Amino acid sequence: MGKKRYKTTRQGLNRRSILKNGLGALGAVALTAGGNSVNATASKDSTDREIDKYDYDVIVIGGGFAGVTAARELRQAGLSVLILEARNRLGGRTFTVKRDGKLFELGGAWVHSTQPNVFAEINRYDLQLVDSTPSTIPDLLWWDGDEARDAGMSGIAPLIRMAACGNGAPEGEPSPPMVTYQGFAIANEQMHQFHDGAAHSFPLPYDPFSTDNWQGADTLSVRDRLNQMDLSPSFSPIIEGLLGASVHGDFDQASYVEMQRWWSLVGSDITRYSDSVSRYSFKHGTQSLINAMLDDGRPDVELGTPVKEVHDLGDHVKIITSTGKTFTCRSTISAVPMNVLSKIQFSPALLSQKVRASEEGHAGSGMKFYIRIRQNIKPILMLASEQDPISTIMTMASPNEGTNLVAFSTDPSQIDPNNHAQVQKLLRRFLPDVDVVDTLHYDWHLDPYSKGTWCVLKKGQLTNSITALREPQGRIYFAGGDIDLGWRGFIDGAIATGNQVGQKVARLLNARTTPIYKTEKMAAGAHIDTTLNQCTVCHSTDASGKASVGPNLRGKYGQPAASASNFNYSSGLSESNLTWNEANLDRFLEDPAGTVPGTTMGFGGIKDPNERNAIIEALRALK
Ligand SMILES: Cc1cc2nc3c(=O)[nH]c(=O)nc-3n(C[C@H](O)[C@H](O)[C@H](O)COP(=O)(O)OP(=O)(O)OC[C@H]3O[C@@H](n4cnc5c(N)ncnc54)[C@H](O)[C@@H]3O)c2cc1C
Repeated sequence: MGKKRYKTTRQGLNRRSILKNGLGALGAVALTAGGNSVNATASKDSTDREIDKYDYDVIVIGGGFAGVTAARELRQAGLSVLILEARNRLGGRTFTVKRDGKLFELGGAWVHSTQPNVFAEINRYDLQLVDSTPSTIPDLLWWDGDEARDAGMSGIAPLIRMAACGNGAPEGEPSPPMVTYQGFAIANEQMHQFHDGAAHSFPLPYDPFSTDNWQGADTLSVRDRLNQMDLSPSFSPIIEGLLGASVHGDFDQASYVEMQRWWSLVGSDITRYSDSVSRYSFKHGTQSLINAMLDDGRPDVELGTPVKEVHDLGDHVKIITSTGKTFTCRSTISAVPMNVLSKIQFSPALLSQKVRASEEGHAGSGMKFYIRIRQNIKPILMLASEQDPISTIMTMASPNEGTNLVAFSTDPSQIDPNNHAQVQKLLRRFLPDVDVVDTLHYDWHLDPYSKGTWCVLKKGQLTNSITALREPQGRIYFAGGDIDLGWRGFIDGAIATGNQVGQKVARLLNARTTPIYKTEKMAAGAHIDTTLNQCTVCHSTDASGKASVGPNLRGKYGQPAASASNFNYSSGLSESNLTWNEANLDRFLEDPAGTVPGTTMGFGGIKDPNERNAIIEALRALK
């Protein structure tokens, strides 16, 4: 697929690059980048920076949700931004594809109102969600190693009664209509027991470091905790199947506290748990949110451009891609998955904890795939042990003919979704008469730009790695769903870090993060900006236009020098022929007497470019 590059200025698309791209005219334009729509509207008053010292203010490495969110934030702060994306599409570990007229999410799919960051975006862009689960409660079946079982079997009646009704339950076998609910009662009981103490470990699940209550448990794997529960082999596939779709990897490696965190985030409630992680998806795909953010921020995007090297040179950053291109910027945000971070060469070198964590990887390494069967079947949730080639299968809201199922395996080496005969054989253990007609999946663990699925930390990584993974190094910042503190491993976590880091970098570059209040002295109690304080010693900024020791500064950005009729300018300034654009202001503020010989402004100049930039932005906003 072809690569496209669109150059933005601080205000919008650059006039020259639009022409260079053959678009010819300013105004609303819609561009296509690798199949993704990147809409951009060039503002008529866009101003090229005359001295473009660096290619961009910020370069974001990786165009998943974290990178696209950060780019949107930075663009809204008025900065020029380029996203360098290795693949030929944006969205990262979310990937919407259409099959037979229906949208399928090969990566991240489900979102919920328990996830505040993604929900804020859904509201912001007025996106619609759909319920991807069947309309009735599914039957619950599990594979005990020899046969498929359900909760109606007499052998488990006492446990069912205990879980569903407590000790006061009547004797005897449950009546058939209760079977479904009783199956979930067992699951509920097991999940509560497994996660016991989660609220104590994570009283503030978005702030794990508010206590160290969880630290002892970070030495336990998911398997260690299951072993502590001493479950009967006949019933352990229930909880293993439920956890299989959450851990999505080796139970011996995944940290138990990761599952405690999930449980705490949903308020220790099994319905909210399953709804949060497997129920509501985007009506028009996750791609619809990516596109809404791109339309909003209009960053430049280069697809098919893997970053190979990142050099922090002190006052700027140099980036080299494996396609042989070099870019410079004032700051960069690495928004690549934890598992591939160490593949990029950084100088100065990444913190050793970052490299170690990236090389050992997180535990999320399973397989998610869709199965289409010919028959219309009633809703079923099918569970099996972690070692089973498929630990979890559930029916989805399906078209009239046939049924769609989504399946999870903790070990992709055990299952080949393209092998329909294998999938059908495994499925027929639960549903003897079904025919598999199609499957759909993506090998995230083989993809060199993800090398895994969603992030579930290995034991010890929360204690030893997460703080270092999040830590900025010089002008290089880090974002990503894998390193969020709250909904880590989710779209929500990716957006959370994109927002946080985008805002941080905007502040670092002194951009207009609060454009409304900038330079306005508000009434007592409101935000007061101090950026122009050193100017207002001599210059007034009030709306009357009144001059002071020097001329009034309001509305002067973009005007010719010496334009105020109510001020007596020096001959040096009157004859300078300067226009107060960004470049000229920068020169003048750095060295007033050198730039305009004969000026009477008694001011030595500002050496710090960040400080000058902040003042220029404040003057620009002073309309
Ligand atoms: C199968 C699966 C199912 C999931 N289900 C859900 C779910 O239901 N709900 C949910 O909320 N979350 C789910 N997730 C998790 C969610 O998708 C991720 O947490 C989230 O999308 C991560 O976003 P990110 O921007 O941090 O990383 P990514 O989306 O991985 O984006 C990183 C980007 O960096 C790029 N990149 C990598 N290396 C380089 C390089 N050298 N140069 C340039 N670019 C590079 C990659 O190509 C990628 O586009 C699922 C994930 C998977 C894989």
